[in-house]
Amino acid sequence: MFELTGKRALVTGAGSGIGEATAVALASRGAVVVIADRDEINGTRVARSIAEAGGTATFVALDVTDETSCASAIARATTEGPIDILVNNAGIGHVGTIVTTAGSDLDRMYAVNVRGVFNVTKACLGGMIERRRGSIVNLASIGGIVGIRDRLAYCTTKFAVVGLTKSMALDHATDGIRVNCVCPGRVETPFVAARLKEYADPEAAYREMASTQAVGRMARPEEIAAAIVYLASDESAFITGSALIIDGGWSAGK
Ligand code: NAD
Repeated sequence: MFELTGKRALVTGAGSGIGEATAVALASRGAVVVIADRDEINGTRVARSIAEAGGTATFVALDVTDETSCASAIARATTEGPIDILVNNAGIGHVGTIVTTAGSDLDRMYAVNVRGVFNVTKACLGGMIERRRGSIVNLASIGGIVGIRDRLAYCTTKFAVVGLTKSMALDHATDGIRVNCVCPGRVETPFVAARLKEYADPEAAYREMASTQAVGRMARPEEIAAAIVYLASDESAFITGSALIIDGGWSAGK
């Protein structure tokens, strides 16, 4: 089950958090993994730790907001073989309502969270269509399914990721390419640590953030990575256009 030997995966934002856990999980199933991140120090650290554990990983620097950077990173990443699995994970967060969010904040969020997915996918898709083979997994969020208070820009971009996922899934369903997204609730990563710093009382904010999940805790990055491995693998061959909710019951009801 979930055997990925012989497949090559590229994970954006794999230098930290969910992306790192996903790269490690994909490599542990036999995939050759390309760690693609703008953070060279963390990206090379993750590639090295996968290699030390017996897997195969390389690092490629890219900024997902920059179309040229994406095209040249994908060109470098595919010199040794095509990409079978693309995980569009790189993303950033922001705290604010429409009153407290500047237009420039919304633009910055859009550039990374939406245009970033667009840029990297556009650079990868040609090769996938040619080979009639590919599984793309995008990181949306539970904030792409329901609204979250004080997360105006974030939710706006994550609803867009769900829309992008479903549209691409339809457009390429008969090209042998599947496109899905995962919608996590809160996950303990540096991303959440950064949000907490934006609050006057970070400890109270942590308790509040943990309590939004019905299970009363945040997820571990590995719990999201496991679902991504499933969607990347042939075991999920009949799933495309789906937005898989992994939110500890957050959106199940009150
Ligand atoms: P993280 O901050 O721990 O890691 C994000 C990684 O993306 C970093 O390595 C960073 O260098 C990289 N990155 C950021 N901007 C980039 C850019 N322009 N180009 C290339 N790389 C870039 O974040 P995380 O918590 O692991 O989140 C990963 C994804 O999961 C994001 O899309 C996020 O929105 C989503 N998500 C996170 C949570 C959560 O609670 N942590 C919940 C739902 C969805």
